[in-house]
Amino acid sequence: MMGGHHAASGAAAWVAVASTAPYALGWYPVSPLGIVSGALLTAGAALLPDLDHHSGTIANSLPPVTKILARITERVSGGHRRGTHSLLGLAVFVALAGALGEMTTEVRGFGTIEIGAGLLSVLLMGFALKALKIAGGAARSWLLAVGLSLFIALYAPENNGWLPLAVGLGVGVHIIGDLLTHQGVMILWPLRIKRPRKIASMPLVAKLWKTSGCLSLPVIGRAGSWREWAIMVPVSVYAIYGVIEGGFNALRGWIT
Ligand SMILES: [Zn+2]
Repeated sequence: MMGGHHAASGAAAWVAVASTAPYALGWYPVSPLGIVSGALLTAGAALLPDLDHHSGTIANSLPPVTKILARITERVSGGHRRGTHSLLGLAVFVALAGALGEMTTEVRGFGTIEIGAGLLSVLLMGFALKALKIAGGAARSWLLAVGLSLFIALYAPENNGWLPLAVGLGVGVHIIGDLLTHQGVMILWPLRIKRPRKIASMPLVAKLWKTSGCLSLPVIGRAGSWREWAIMVPVSVYAIYGVIEGGFNALRGWIT
């Protein structure tokens, strides 16, 4: 799936879970601004699994930091679409986000500053800006990423555990997005279950269970196909609508 579509699906997932509007699920209600800041963070988190590619878009989002992180991630996760696109990878990302969410400090006059969430936000905003092609050069990317992270740090949802939830949602929808393409994902990594030779010749098995051991539900086909656009345009509209409504509700709250 294309980077911009991953980001949109992340934001849409946050809106669906965190908004209490009639068009959302409202499972994890947050403040109106928490919908905006959480959607931004989840959009970035929905690109995190693609940090497993040293020359990919994400690796080039905030150089040199993302380049170094991508090389490390690629080595640890066994290559592109392996560890970071698996259930184990999802669990590791959630655990890391949980640990970063605990990193706070008290500053007199300001109250609690979420250092870990802030650092993670810079990285994730860099990813989102690059995927949505808003970034531009390295200096501009860093500046915009830090600016957006300050917004997230100031207006983050006050709910406990919002950071691991947002990261889990983002990574989860990314894995689903890639599962829907021809290439598929190795969901049970590091287990690589090869398809048994006896059933490999069955057309449906060959389609869903790749020789590489990857699983695929190729609803989208190849990345960037018209089917991907047909699914992702409404999802993107939903995300944008949810975020704008969150912003308006916050404004209304300030005025009245
Ligand atoms: Zn991916």
